[in-house]
Amino acid sequence: MRKSIPFLKPNLVKKETYMKYLDVIDETRIYSNYGNLNTQFEKRILSEYFQNKGAVSTVSNATIGLMLSIMLSKRKKGRYAIMPSFTFSATAQAALWCGLEPLFIDIRSKDWCMDEKLVQNYVDKLGEEIAVIVPYATFGTVVDLSYYQNLMELGVPVVVDAAASFGSTYDGLGLEATFSGPIVYSFHATKAFGIGEGGLVYSQDEAFIEQLRKAGNFGFGPNRNSEQIGLNSKLTEYAAAIGLASLDKYPEKILIRQEIRRKYEKSMKEVGLFDHGWQLHLTRGNVAHQNVSVLSPDDCNAIDVVSFLEQSGIEARTYFSPACHQQSLFLNSNKSIMETTENIARRIINLPLWEEISDQEIDFVVGQLRLFQSKQKEVIINS
Ligand SMILES: *Cc1c(COP(=O)(O)O)cnc(C)c1O
Repeated sequence: MRKSIPFLKPNLVKKETYMKYLDVIDETRIYSNYGNLNTQFEKRILSEYFQNKGAVSTVSNATIGLMLSIMLSKRKKGRYAIMPSFTFSATAQAALWCGLEPLFIDIRSKDWCMDEKLVQNYVDKLGEEIAVIVPYATFGTVVDLSYYQNLMELGVPVVVDAAASFGSTYDGLGLEATFSGPIVYSFHATKAFGIGEGGLVYSQDEAFIEQLRKAGNFGFGPNRNSEQIGLNSKLTEYAAAIGLASLDKYPEKILIRQEIRRKYEKSMKEVGLFDHGWQLHLTRGNVAHQNVSVLSPDDCNAIDVVSFLEQSGIEARTYFSPACHQQSLFLNSNKSIMETTENIARRIINLPLWEEISDQEIDFVVGQLRLFQSKQKEVIINS
């Protein structure tokens, strides 16, 4: 029988859980502009996720958070924004809005994060022409950012795209354990901590967050006097209400997501996929998984796997394929060699992950991968 297993089934908090906050909005008639609920939301995030160290500002989405962070950090005369090609195009779009040219760098095969050796080559070669470096913590991993911390201390601006890393920890700490500059998170409905639209910028530099908050409010200083370049990045009080209710549920959601990922791993192991060259994305820490990313063997193409799964009603994706440098807007952008990015983009499959997915459904998905594997082998033997 044809099943139907969607890739995502976002499940945000139900209205009963945030009604009490909506009452506050109705009473105070404050709807935005860093209101009471947004303040509570930021305070709780700082205390529950950052040990009250540093500062945070909510933003209306992570793309805007990246734009503001890049704009405020970049070298004024710099030209390039160095970033991996294996990221969501929002990273590159944000750089364009800041008047910069993306310079795409290959990833390492180990964890699919930007290759630091290649980054260093460009740092040595381009010097002050580099406006900013934007590493991405791939699929929520708590990548060690010490290399970038060091670069930042040497005067190279760095902004971290951690869109999918909110709630991921290593030894109890997030990415801020190894990096003190701006870190940008997304609260989009498709991320593990989804509130609809929203995001967060964290930094240990409190003055930076203060400045970002101003930039996100039209660059206003006192007396509604625009002092710096700005835009509107404010989160509504309605979104903050959903955010507050989401914080209550999130620790449990993270555990469920980790359990699902473990079940996939176990199931893949049981049917022997790892012995046939299949791999799971190697993440660092207790990751708040956004999806389950697997690599098919080198002799497979992800698109064939995805269409095979589709025939049995399973919806899978291929993030990030095409990689940024393969998308029309960026075909002429500067880039390093792209061997690993292109190899992984060809083989990547993101499997369904949503909180109510059942063990049977996971086994079914994995079973179909196994079936694909056997069929593939037959084709190779018969040809
Ligand atoms: C989701 C995502 C973004 C954009 O987040 P929004 O909140 O939707 O703007 C940026 N970068 C990466 C890597 C993402 O996965």
